[in-house]
Amino acid sequence: MYKDLSFDELSQLEIELRKQYDNFKSQNLKLDMSRGKPCSEQLELSTDMLDKINSKSTLVSRDGVDCLNYGGIDGLAECKELFAQLFDVPVANVVVGGNSSLTMMFDYISQCYIKGAGAEPWFKQGDVKFLCPAPGYDRHFAICEYFGIEMISVPMLSTGPDMDVAEELAKDSSVKGMLCVPKYSNPTGITYSDETVKRLASMDTASDFRIIWDNAYCVHHLNSQQDVLLNLFDECKKAGNPDRVVMFASTSKVTFPGAGIAALATSENNIKMIKERLTVQTIGPDKINQLRHTACFSNIDNINEHMKKHAEIIYPRFDVVLNGLNTELAPHGIASWGKPNGGYFISLDVLDGCANRVYELCKNAGVTLTNCGATYPYGKDPFDTNIRIAPTFPSVDELEKAVELLCICVKLASVEKYMKTFK
Ligand code: PMP
Repeated sequence: MYKDLSFDELSQLEIELRKQYDNFKSQNLKLDMSRGKPCSEQLELSTDMLDKINSKSTLVSRDGVDCLNYGGIDGLAECKELFAQLFDVPVANVVVGGNSSLTMMFDYISQCYIKGAGAEPWFKQGDVKFLCPAPGYDRHFAICEYFGIEMISVPMLSTGPDMDVAEELAKDSSVKGMLCVPKYSNPTGITYSDETVKRLASMDTASDFRIIWDNAYCVHHLNSQQDVLLNLFDECKKAGNPDRVVMFASTSKVTFPGAGIAALATSENNIKMIKERLTVQTIGPDKINQLRHTACFSNIDNINEHMKKHAEIIYPRFDVVLNGLNTELAPHGIASWGKPNGGYFISLDVLDGCANRVYELCKNAGVTLTNCGATYPYGKDPFDTNIRIAPTFPSVDELEKAVELLCICVKLASVEKYMKTFK
């Protein structure tokens, strides 16, 4: 345990670690573990899809919509059916969108801000605040910043956001929303417990409070130990708050990021308002891409089978990182990390005040990590501890090197910190 070492022992260790670090530096590495992007083998799993629709195909949907022309504002019947299975909600509660769930979230928040979520527009009611489980997804925080929505951090626990804190904060009527990644959360990898979901459904809030339920990783299991998430749509209905939740998902990490299909699911009231906006916003989505997807996946079982192939490719990458952390860091009491059953990230917590130092050391030796602070509202990690690792994109060999370096950097930053306590 580093905390038990004397100053002389730490100095000796620092010299050794410096040598190892300089050795890495001289290799001129150029590795990126910063963004959750699928690797090329994963993308290849779906390239057959591109041949499913060609000039000889019948480009008419099951119920006769000509997919070469405008129309089909909320999605083709077969595509809505597929997403209804994914969300586990009735088909009537689904709207299929374009290529990005983030765009759909942005549009929905924008609509509530300008037009309201069933009550006065949010902007007319004064301050607008959102609850942001943290660490969380930086692009969610960016949407809030764009609209000037004040973000209030809610600490993430192993069961999801700390509900004692969330319930207290949600009583404030200027709190209008909450951004959640409920399954294999970005970045901690945890899945919200049943109790958390029930409390989110039933807590006291303003009537126009909305939960943005970003289920981006709903089918993205890494192994057979799959987490199970309670259905917030059903729980909100049971609790008498059917309009509270708007669920989002996409096939960005099932087929192609940027060329997938996104969808949302919500109550009849919310769907009505969303469709009113959509008919002003567009004359119809890309139905050819919807056909392409439903030609490959006619039901959720097909998606689940396909996701097993993704897991086979990325599980070894997670394994390399977790094994590296376990062997190199666990014995020294200088870091803790999650062991997710799915999703795209490993969340590493180093000693307080060390995350930026680790980032800088890694960067100077050629390994890029996600910017420190990115996982917190306003880019400010209050204790400078969290590092998000995205292991899917680099190869296993590259990851082995990157993790070796990362562990050296964590050790070095920890030794530096402990040495300062003697001064
Ligand atoms: N939500 C979360 C939690 C994500 O991690 C990502 C992708 N990194 C997205 C949304 C973006 O999804 P899309 O491509 O559908 O916009």
